[in-house]
Amino acid sequence: MKAFELLRRRFVAAPPAKAEGGEDLAQSADFARKQRALAALALAFGYDPDKVSLRPQLAACNYLGQSFRAEGEASPDGRIEIYYDPAMSDARLGCCLAHELQHVRYFAVREAFRAEPEDGPLHRRFAAFSADRLAAQRGVSDYSNEHWDAWTGEKPPQLFSDELNVGGSEPINETIAEVAKALYNWGLDVRIDPLWKELQRAIDEEYERLG
Ligand SMILES: [Zn+2]
Repeated sequence: MKAFELLRRRFVAAPPAKAEGGEDLAQSADFARKQRALAALALAFGYDPDKVSLRPQLAACNYLGQSFRAEGEASPDGRIEIYYDPAMSDARLGCCLAHELQHVRYFAVREAFRAEPEDGPLHRRFAAFSADRLAAQRGVSDYSNEHWDAWTGEKPPQLFSDELNVGGSEPINETIAEVAKALYNWGLDVRIDPLWKELQRAIDEEYERLG
């Protein structure tokens, strides 16, 4: 599972900017249209469209018979890239953006959490979300469960820890992003474990507070 994850990541890093016929993806009418759709979605989410871009790269749909799921990337500085896929509908574009935006919020709250003392307000607010409780629930989707399966840490992952360095995957960060995607796609009544819903909402509230 771990090796697979790494392979997939490497796959994402390769930038084949041209389609099979050698046509430059970034010049296509469909690329321009999706770029506009993405900017409109960013605005609808209340996010700066200049921080969101479409990467001219064909997403590999299958790799060794397994479907390739990573559809974008978020950076702690707030930049978001969605990997261009001609087959991606606007609805799926919105789902991807909801997922990546949640990473941005998670990174911001994580930074504030790490910057405060251990008895600070964020530590108190998030104390209930212990590693054991979260690990008992695992993920909320196939993709987030891949991250739980790939976890190699000796102990379950801790909220706001450096998951990637400790255990080689990001079960908590990815599960929260998948909660946001599910809420966007299915609405507030989506059947997701209340613990994860509660955690996602707490992160959003603290993100708003941070301004
Ligand atoms: Zn993600």
